[in-house]
Order: sequence, then structure tokens, then C-alpha cells
Amino acid sequence: MKLVFLGPPGSGKGTYASRICEQKGWAHISTGDLFRENLKKQTEIGMKAKKYMDEGALVPDDIVIGMLKERLEKDDCKKGFILDGFPRTIPQAEAMEKITDTDVVVNLSIPDEVLIEKILARRTCEKCGDIYNVADIRFGPNKEHHMPPVNPRVGGVCDKCGGKLVSRSDETKEVIENRLKVYRKQTEPLIKYYREKGLIRDVDVTGPPSIMVPKILGAIGEE
Ligand code: AMP
Repeated sequence: MKLVFLGPPGSGKGTYASRICEQKGWAHISTGDLFRENLKKQTEIGMKAKKYMDEGALVPDDIVIGMLKERLEKDDCKKGFILDGFPRTIPQAEAMEKITDTDVVVNLSIPDEVLIEKILARRTCEKCGDIYNVADIRFGPNKEHHMPPVNPRVGGVCDKCGGKLVSRSDETKEVIENRLKVYRKQTEPLIKYYREKGLIRDVDVTGPPSIMVPKILGAIGEE
């Protein structure tokens, strides 16, 4: 299956995509992770992307599209994949159509006030990119939705690889607010774009990954 996950920063795209891909044997393709890897290795792409990432702005389309095209050619994509964080603009979506077709687009919704709290509490493994969250969040009109913390077994240490858990450098309040603004302006128009193509499945984020993963699998007909 070829999937796109749409949703504002902090909606949980990376966490849900990683768990679903692990279950299904699909490739999890996060353009944000690809940029962070390039930055670590100080490649030309990483150096070009850095200033945009630091500000919470989007990296120019031609750089992202070239990087994605190369990634989709790898063998692990043959069984299926989830694109997490791509496309983020209409021109990216149009370019993608020339590279691959798309079966379903999952549109994750979550209130803004929850997003900021959630992103500030996110901890990412600096080695393998695994994601944790130290916040205990209740929201909804009657606080009926609960997102308990996703803690590692040992504080500050990744369960999967033993790497150190850190806050990403683009996870300050100022940069997060800019990333949300950029999402509303440049990425949200994709919801209408894909809805008109009949590809959207709307999913409200209402709980921890143990609730969200089966909910998303149900929405895409893969339960
Ligand atoms: P993410 O990990 O998805 O939040 O992405 C982190 C940063 O990488 C973003 O704030 C952008 O600067 C950059 N980035 C990731 N994916 C894209 C994309 N599809 N288009 C442009 N910039 C991107």
C-alpha cells in the first residue's frame, strides 16, 4: 500500500507511521528524518537544508523532490510505504504524481493547543530517531481524550538502540509556532487537493499510539 500521512507538526505522524510500517513490513519515509541524517553526515543536501530547518521553514521543493525520488527507488519500498512529512506543498504533490501513485491519504486532526504542549514534550533518539513523549495531556470539551506519556524504560535512553533522547533543535516554542503557520499556509491546501481526488481518510487524534494505530489501520482498511 502507498500511503501519505498529512497532519500538523506534532500530530503523531512519525510515531504512527513507524509503528504501522513495522507491523506491515512497509518502508517509513520521513523527509524530516532524511534531512536530519543528511545534516549529521554534512552532505550537500544537509548543508542546503539547514537554514530552512532552523527557522521552521520549508526546504525548497526541488531539493526535497530529488531526495524523495532517490529514496523511493530503494528496494524496501516495493512492498508499500508511508510518506511522513511529504508532500508539504501542492507542487510537491504534483511532482510526486510523476514518480508514484498514491492509494490513500490519512489526514490527522488535533487541536492546536495540544500540539504545542505535545511537541515541547517530545524526545527523539539522536541515533535512530525513535520518538517518545514526556507529557500527560487531557483534552476535548470534557477532557475525555487522554494522551499519557510515552516514556522509555530507562529515563533519557532509547528502548530500541540505547541512544540518547534529546529535544530537536527546531522544537523551541518560537520555531514550533512558525512551523504551525507554515503548515496552515503551505500544507493544509493539500487536504482539499486530495479530498477532490477522493483519497482522504480523516482521523481525529484522540489518544495514545495503542488507540491510534488500530484506528488508522481501520480507516485505511488494513485492520
Ligand atoms: P519534520 O521532521 O517532518 O517535522 O521536518 C523537519 C523540517 O524538515 C521541516 O520543518 C522542514 O524544514 C524540513 N522538511 C521536511 N519535509 C519537508 C518537505 N516535504 N518539504 C520541505 N521541507 C521539509
